[in-house]
Amino acid sequence: MIRPALLLAATFLAASPLAAQSFSIPRLTKDIQTLGSDAFEGRGPATAGEAKSIAYIVQQLKTAGVQPGGEVVGGKREWTQRVPLLQSQWSTDPVLTLTGNGVAGRLAQGTEIAVRAPLTGASQLRLDNAPLVFAGYGVQAPERQWDDFKGMDLRGKILVVFINDPDFEGAIGDGGPDFGGKAMTYYGRWTYKYEQAAKLGAAGVMIVHEDAPASYGWNTVKNSNTNTMFDVVRQNPSASHPAVESWITKAIAERIFAASGMTLAQAKAAARRRDFKPIELPVRFSASGTATARTITSYNVVGLLPGTRRPDETVIYSAHFDHLGVGLPDANGDRIYNGALDNGVGTAHVIEQARVFAKQPRTERSIVFLFVTAEEKGLLGSEYYNSNPLYPLSKTVGVLNTDGGSIHGPARDFSISGTAKLDLLDMAVAEAGRQGRRYTPDEKVEAGYFFRSDHFPFAKRGVPAISFEAGNDLVQGGTVRGKALAEDYTEKRYHQPDDEYDPSWNLTGLVDDAKLLNNLGRSLANSAAWPNWSQDSEFRAARDATATERGGSAPDTREAGERG
Ligand SMILES: [Zn+2]
Repeated sequence: MIRPALLLAATFLAASPLAAQSFSIPRLTKDIQTLGSDAFEGRGPATAGEAKSIAYIVQQLKTAGVQPGGEVVGGKREWTQRVPLLQSQWSTDPVLTLTGNGVAGRLAQGTEIAVRAPLTGASQLRLDNAPLVFAGYGVQAPERQWDDFKGMDLRGKILVVFINDPDFEGAIGDGGPDFGGKAMTYYGRWTYKYEQAAKLGAAGVMIVHEDAPASYGWNTVKNSNTNTMFDVVRQNPSASHPAVESWITKAIAERIFAASGMTLAQAKAAARRRDFKPIELPVRFSASGTATARTITSYNVVGLLPGTRRPDETVIYSAHFDHLGVGLPDANGDRIYNGALDNGVGTAHVIEQARVFAKQPRTERSIVFLFVTAEEKGLLGSEYYNSNPLYPLSKTVGVLNTDGGSIHGPARDFSISGTAKLDLLDMAVAEAGRQGRRYTPDEKVEAGYFFRSDHFPFAKRGVPAISFEAGNDLVQGGTVRGKALAEDYTEKRYHQPDDEYDPSWNLTGLVDDAKLLNNLGRSLANSAAWPNWSQDSEFRAARDATATERGGSAPDTREAGERG
């Protein structure tokens, strides 16, 4: 409900010359309704629904007066960036076998082990008696003087590693490893373990699955990794993917450790030590399987408002426009996964930012509006952009991503996906303060949400980036109502056909957030500041390594954070 006084104010605003520069609930509503309608078929990559979505977004950007910001073809910038995706699935379940004392036998795909269909581009998986090596948490973290591999030659080996990072089992200040306490660093994420194994030339990885450190159950592992896999098309996929990317259940891991005279608890205790060295296990792994792989083409959509003084420096607003498409029916027979909130709302938000920025005075640095595809397949549109950046990453000042958004009215707080320490967040907190709002940190720090949204492929390469999250402390009903609504969504609508637009939504909080993000991006785009990561962040080194590309200016941490 909007109080009459506010309604009056809104009417006044709409009639004033400022109206063109203000965020509009009717426009946001129309965008969300359109993108979330059945006609858009859930916006799956490489579908008719995708084509409709792209046409709609481009039309809105054109009308707003934004320029095409996509790839250059024939000397001319297009609205899109082609995103070729590799799609791979097992033709039949692969045959997976362990040999060794007490463990010899077949492993059942899906119930004891989950081996992903190969993303190396290979259609055959064939591995004969590859030796297993226990590699602790599989972490190499120079800024924490931590190395689980100790220079051992791991080529052709299968690494058995724990999920999460080496301090997960400990308490703060217990004298054990320090990886930021309960919060998961990127070293804890399964994607990291696979990438690291590929770098070391290992034949594969078996991640020991446990519910608590993974933050989800075995069913999630099984359901997301034994079906069709996707990746961006890479020039050298083996540099990013080992041949075998798998998880094993705790029960299987216990048997493997037992074959080596260890309990799982002993293995864990060993892995918590800085002087841990990889342990060769008297167990071998064989695998054979056939997969069918093909390439599909999807697209990122990109709009641009060139900067007046330093156009090569960019501030990026991003949101994924894809969702799950058409899939299995729910109880009502609905097969369209509309994704109105996920991520019709974020997409509408970035479209509306483009409209408002286009009406505001041009900024000194460029503003890029980036609508990425295939987030639901593993952040792939964003990954592709980052592997093939249209604007130099070293000169990308900051990335403000939105996935979902406020639909239940104004909130007294805001949050971000996951936990990280960076100036960009400090600046967002300061900006929120000017609205009389505060920052509420992510409460489930061990889940590693920082690594699960589209800002992350930027962060991984050192670009300061956050995914903004709507607050839960609602002006009407506080955190009790906020959390209840969030839980209701997760249970009844998240990644289900019922994620649909609802006329009862109240988008005034989304407008508050849009203003906050607009102020933040504008001040960055009119400054010479280069916000950075905290000294102990795993992403700091990557950013500092590109400092000279920013005109030799020293990496700047404080100027940005303290600006008024
Ligand atoms: Zn999403």
